Amino acid sequence: AFDAQTATAWITAAEAAVKADEARLTSLDAAIGDGDHGANMARGLAAALTNIAERAPSTPGDVLVAAGRGIVAKTGGASGPLYGSAFRRAGKALGDTASASAEEVGAALEAALTAIKELGGANEGDKTMVDALTPAVAAFQAVAADGGPLAAAAAAAADGAEQGLAATVPMQARKGRASYLGPRSVGHEDPGAASTALILRALAEVVQ
Ligand code: ADP
Ligand code: MG
Ligand code: MG
Repeated sequence: AFDAQTATAWITAAEAAVKADEARLTSLDAAIGDGDHGANMARGLAAALTNIAERAPSTPGDVLVAAGRGIVAKTGGASGPLYGSAFRRAGKALGDTASASAEEVGAALEAALTAIKELGGANEGDKTMVDALTPAVAAFQAVAADGGPLAAAAAAAADGAEQGLAATVPMQARKGRASYLGPRSVGHEDPGAASTALILRALAEVVQ
C-alpha cells in the first residue's frame, strides 16, 4: 500500500532519477526551450526532499503536499508551479489516510493532472507534460479499477507515460516556450513530458 514511507521513497527515487538524467532533460529543453529543465527539476526535487525531511510528515498525503510546497518555493520556470500544484493537489486528494489503496492513488494522480491543466491551460496534443501524464493516469486507473495491485497500476502508468512522451515528438508545441518555435518545435521530445515519465517510472520502481 501507499503509505508515508512509500511516498517518501517515491520522491527520493524521482530526485535521483532526475539528477541522473539532468543533462538529457537539459538538452531536450535546449532544443525547443531555454535549456534549464534539467536544472529546474533537480533543484525542485531536492527542495521537495528537504521540505519532507524538515516536516517529517506521517501520512502519504502530507508527504506529497510537503514535496509540492518545496518544489514551488525553489523551482523557477513554468514547470515549478505546475509540478508544485500537481504534488500538492495529489496530496490533498489522499486526505488523511495512513495507507492509500491503488484506486486512491489513481484518484490522486488524476487530481494532479487536473491541477496542471487548470493552471497551465494545456490539453492533450499541445506537446507538454500533459501528454505524458494523461495516458499514465488512464493506464493506472484501468488497472486499479480491475482490482489490480498498486505495483501493476504504477508499472502501467510508467509505460503509458513513456508512450505519451514518444507521441510528443511529431507534435507542434502550443503551450510554453516551445510554442514560440512554431513548426520548428516538431521532431523533439517535450522536456516536461520526459521528466513526467521519469517521475512515474520512479513510482513504479518503489512500489514493486
Ligand atoms: P521554462 O519553459 O519556463 O524554462 P521548464 O523548462 O522547467 O520551464 O519546463 C518546460 C516544460 O514545462 C515544457 O517542456 C512543458 O512540458 C511544460 N509546460 C510549459 N508550459 C506548460 C503549460 N502551459 N501547461 C503544461 N505544461 C507546460
Ligand atoms: Mg526551460
Ligand atoms: Mg526557463
